[in-house]
Amino acid sequence: MKHVDLSANFQITDEQLCGGRKLTEEQTNERFMTATHEAAHLVGATACHRSAIVAVTIAKTNRRDGRQGTFESSEFWPDHEAFVSLVGYAWEEQHGDVKFAAGDYHKGFNPRHVYMLDHARAFVKTHALLIVEVAAAILLLIPKHGRLDGKPLAGLVAQLRETWVTPYVSGYVNGKLDHAVQW
Ligand SMILES: [Zn+2]
Repeated sequence: MKHVDLSANFQITDEQLCGGRKLTEEQTNERFMTATHEAAHLVGATACHRSAIVAVTIAKTNRRDGRQGTFESSEFWPDHEAFVSLVGYAWEEQHGDVKFAAGDYHKGFNPRHVYMLDHARAFVKTHALLIVEVAAAILLLIPKHGRLDGKPLAGLVAQLRETWVTPYVSGYVNGKLDHAVQW
């Protein structure tokens, strides 16, 4: 089983970056940007207590406008669910292109809880380097069919939770949104 130690200076080869295929420079760049976007969701979800993290996929084909990644998790609290979506949006806002995160914005943004977007933005700022490193880890671990799940993903999540990620505390107390948690 493949394993990446986030505390080591691991290297990713061009072949791993391209998933073993011949890609143009533009496609390679898109693949890496897709991985960073999904890594942002992953790092965000690992910050949330009791999130069940299921899979990261990066499609093996590349369209020209090709962001073709998905992140699957389920969060215990509704504000955690919004947070995990908004971290993807905040990532694109700060490092990519928000047109790739319209779905995340619609899923996560609630005008009554605008502070959650601020939390997501602050989280991405704090964890930007980690998110890039996790993107590289995803590309290293992901099988050829393009879906990272099971033990290799669990190993990565465990490392993140143990050492690298600041927990994002839910604002829910006794089943109700009690206060705007500060991040
Ligand atoms: Zn997303």
